[in-house]
Amino acid sequence: MNRRTFLTTGGLAVAGFGFGACASNPKPTLTPSRSPVNLAPVDASWDRIIRTTVGLRPHRDAGFVLKADKLDDKLLVHNYGHGGAGMSLSWGTGLMAAEFASQQPLRRAAVIGCGAVGLTTARQLQRRGFDVTIYALAVPPNVTSNMSLAGFTPVSGLVENDRRTPEWDAQFRRAADIAYRQLQLLAGSPYGVSWVDSYQPTDELPRPAPPNPDRPNLQAGLGAGQEILQPGEHPFPTKYAIRRPGIRIEPSIYLDVLVRDVLLFGGRIVMRKFDTPRDLAMLDEPVVVNCTGLGARELFGDQELVPLKGQLTVMVPQPEVNYQTNGGVRNVPLPAGSLGLHMMPRRDGIILGGTSERGVTTMEPNEGERKRVVDGHIELFSAMRRPGRGAVRT
Ligand SMILES: Cc1cc2nc3c(=O)[nH]c(=O)nc-3n(C[C@H](O)[C@H](O)[C@H](O)COP(=O)(O)OP(=O)(O)OC[C@H]3O[C@@H](n4cnc5c(N)ncnc54)[C@H](O)[C@@H]3O)c2cc1C
Repeated sequence: MNRRTFLTTGGLAVAGFGFGACASNPKPTLTPSRSPVNLAPVDASWDRIIRTTVGLRPHRDAGFVLKADKLDDKLLVHNYGHGGAGMSLSWGTGLMAAEFASQQPLRRAAVIGCGAVGLTTARQLQRRGFDVTIYALAVPPNVTSNMSLAGFTPVSGLVENDRRTPEWDAQFRRAADIAYRQLQLLAGSPYGVSWVDSYQPTDELPRPAPPNPDRPNLQAGLGAGQEILQPGEHPFPTKYAIRRPGIRIEPSIYLDVLVRDVLLFGGRIVMRKFDTPRDLAMLDEPVVVNCTGLGARELFGDQELVPLKGQLTVMVPQPEVNYQTNGGVRNVPLPAGSLGLHMMPRRDGIILGGTSERGVTTMEPNEGERKRVVDGHIELFSAMRRPGRGAVRT
């Protein structure tokens, strides 16, 4: 069996094991057959923290809103409420918003909002021949999109399972497929998009949920396969580590390049706040696309929009760290809604996250959550085996 051959066990893949089966003992015996993965540990300490940022994810229990409406004689297209998945999905919902816009004959559009959703919608409109003006109260780096972790997490904090409808699922599926393909094509370019392996340290292997025909798995097909690294094959102080390749987006690079692209293709950006839909009706453009994220709560009275506050604590960059982690050493009880622990290496720092506070609007960091996230990562990385040395267990 070669190094890349996988044995599928209940939906998970066990990688890199040779089989010692014989006729009298048909059960395969698993023997480690590959050398341990060497990963540079994150130098995690309170001294290395350089900033903590806060952002409010625009969440709706029923999922994002993507639909066409009328505003007097204008076509009004809504594209907002992407929760913890706006960086992941925006090329897809942007393309679908541009399709709605194309249903009328004129090729001039106003996009309201200059976060990831507004910028990618503007680009999708430009790709279909529209002359686009973005109007926004704030532009990068002063938008929620800059406060994102930001991995390709198309279902994160997006929709409550019991609010899903077949129609919404179909919209999601199409948006996610388009976005996944588009982000793949941006990888390796100046957009700040790249592939990076993610490791989930764990003592217990997750049991795959049985398929439910009424609730198809939203994430199916939106990622490459995963491997289970056995004891001795990984440097984490846990029994196993689950490895998955994932897409990383570096917001401070990505959003600036998108702004540049919108301008390069003849777009304009106007700083302006809108207080009511009446203000939008006064615009010259025959099509208005609403990409205001959480702003749609006030602007359009969508009371279903609720902030999920998230904060990131950033440490000094370490260019040698070329993997992300998802989880910590122990299964400590987590605060309600918490996302556990996440580390993402980026050029602007080692990003530590994992918080989600529903309905909280303060932009002040939550000190308790900051301590949980930083201490959890210090515990994980200080117990990690250094390249060429034995594992440390605390
Ligand atoms: C800590 C954290 C981690 C995250 N991690 C991920 C991740 O890993 N993957 C992922 O996909 N997503 C992630 N997200 C979620 C992601 O950041 C959001 O889904 C995304 O930024 C939403 O983009 P947006 O363009 O809708 O909103 P925004 O970026 O908030 O942009 C909204 C725009 O609308 C404008 N606007 C609003 N109201 C008005 C008004 N009345 N008049 C004029 N302009 C207005 C604003 O000024 C702004 O320009 C994370 C978020 C946080 C906070």
